[in-house]
Amino acid sequence: MRETIIAGNWKMYKTVPEARAFLDELLPLVKGTQRTVVLAVPYTAIAPCAELAKGSGVAIGAQNMNDASEGAFTGEIAARMLVDAGATFVVLGHSERRHIFGESSAFVNKKVKQALKEGLRPIVCVGETLEERQGGRTEAVLERELLKSLAGVTKKQLAKVIVAYEPVWAIGTGHTATPEMAEQVHTFLRKVLDEKWSDSSGSVPILYGGSVKPDNAHQLLAAEDVDGLLVGGASLTAESFYQICKG
Ligand code: PEP
Repeated sequence: MRETIIAGNWKMYKTVPEARAFLDELLPLVKGTQRTVVLAVPYTAIAPCAELAKGSGVAIGAQNMNDASEGAFTGEIAARMLVDAGATFVVLGHSERRHIFGESSAFVNKKVKQALKEGLRPIVCVGETLEERQGGRTEAVLERELLKSLAGVTKKQLAKVIVAYEPVWAIGTGHTATPEMAEQVHTFLRKVLDEKWSDSSGSVPILYGGSVKPDNAHQLLAAEDVDGLLVGGASLTAESFYQICKG
């Protein structure tokens, strides 16, 4: 049985006092949940959130990082700084990074390898645009993004990787993939992983992300190959995130 992971992505929202207030409300609600609950928070909130969440079972992570271990890269942040602040995982290759900031799968790949080297669990995002889906290129796009983003990752390292299928057309739009669409893609991604890393996809949770809300989370999670959810907008209030965490 793969673990069920509910991951929140706060994007560029929440000051430290706002983050603290969220956790004060969420932590008692998710106490004892069987699911793995993780929150990707802004850099400034990592240390205070990690401190507050200590012992609660809720993991705190980052939304991005640089691939270098240190250096003259103004405005960037290194994996070991995230670890130092208390992060245990990092979202990499989110569509907003790929499309707004022009990050390639080759760059995402360098970050994935650096994250694994420093002991951070990467949540590696892949997803097709609406144009690619309508053009019948979904599988080709996803296969290329996944294999390039994970190039050179060993079978042992793969066990630490989490994959997130996030169709670009579903992120922040209110248009969610149906559970059937998500299942079809997740099964395909699992096949790609199995072909490349000889039957080791069983250890890799594949999350669905894209306009997940309390009223569609349950159906999406019921799909066999959907191992969890990556939640943006609906992770910003403790009540709606909790509704998703409890399923
Ligand atoms: C995301 O940020 O990864 C995301 C899926 O956002 P939303 O849930 O708001 O669509």
